[in-house]
Amino acid sequence: MSEDIVIYTKNLTKKFGSFTAVDNINFEVHRGEIFGFLGANGAGKTTAMRMLCGLSKPTSGEGYVAGFDIRKQPEKIKQSIGYMSQKFSLYEDLKVWENIRLYAGIYGMKDHHIAEKTEDLLEKLHFTKERNTLVASLPLGWKQKLAFSVSIFHEPKIVFLDEPTGGVDPATRRQFWEMIYEAADRGITIFVTTHYMDEAEYCNRVSIMVDGRIDALDTPHNLKEQFNAHSMDQVFRRLARKAERKE
Ligand code: ATP
Repeated sequence: MSEDIVIYTKNLTKKFGSFTAVDNINFEVHRGEIFGFLGANGAGKTTAMRMLCGLSKPTSGEGYVAGFDIRKQPEKIKQSIGYMSQKFSLYEDLKVWENIRLYAGIYGMKDHHIAEKTEDLLEKLHFTKERNTLVASLPLGWKQKLAFSVSIFHEPKIVFLDEPTGGVDPATRRQFWEMIYEAADRGITIFVTTHYMDEAEYCNRVSIMVDGRIDALDTPHNLKEQFNAHSMDQVFRRLARKAERKE
């Protein structure tokens, strides 16, 4: 497999009893790519992402992340990735700097390295004055920026973002995406799920899942052409209409 390929799946499948949540998915993601992983509620995105992060074993098929086998080397994968989701994120009752130190420690960084990088990060985010602020009292958009920064603090090869910008306005989302571009420019691969179609437009390539299968995968430009649509929203609606699975 080429070194440029950081995520690879072949017929990756997850069943819960007789129900097939993820049904033979095949795709590759390249280094530094911003890959959008779309699908209606219940399409199977979270289940697929959990397998890729080494948190859940596939029923059948193969998957490699950062060169490691998702079946046999889940611990290696966990060390090579960053993860941010709306549900699992910062500790609200800890201060800004405490959250940074906690997560950097979990990701295995050394104390002196953490201290040095924390200063750089606070400055970059214009957060120096908020060092001792409890995360609970930050606006949601700031929390999301901090959570993303923390998820890539250890410079992982790949970061998985599960609906990272839920609940904020388009202008704040746009600022968040500036940070995503910057990380991708440094070679970090971005794997992102979202329900916002403006964000789908920002991705290099987008896959769309319907009932556990990947029904379309291409650049936003090509998908719009293929589905004769003027926006990703229209592409998404055309595909999602076929879904039998309703949540
Ligand atoms: P959402 O956008 O709502 O998070 P999703 O695309 O991430 O949706 P999944 O959470 O992966 O979808 O769920 C896919 C399907 O698998 C759903 O029908 C869900 O009910 C089912 N499912 C997920 N986890 C389990 C489980 N542990 N046991 C049984 N069924 C499950």
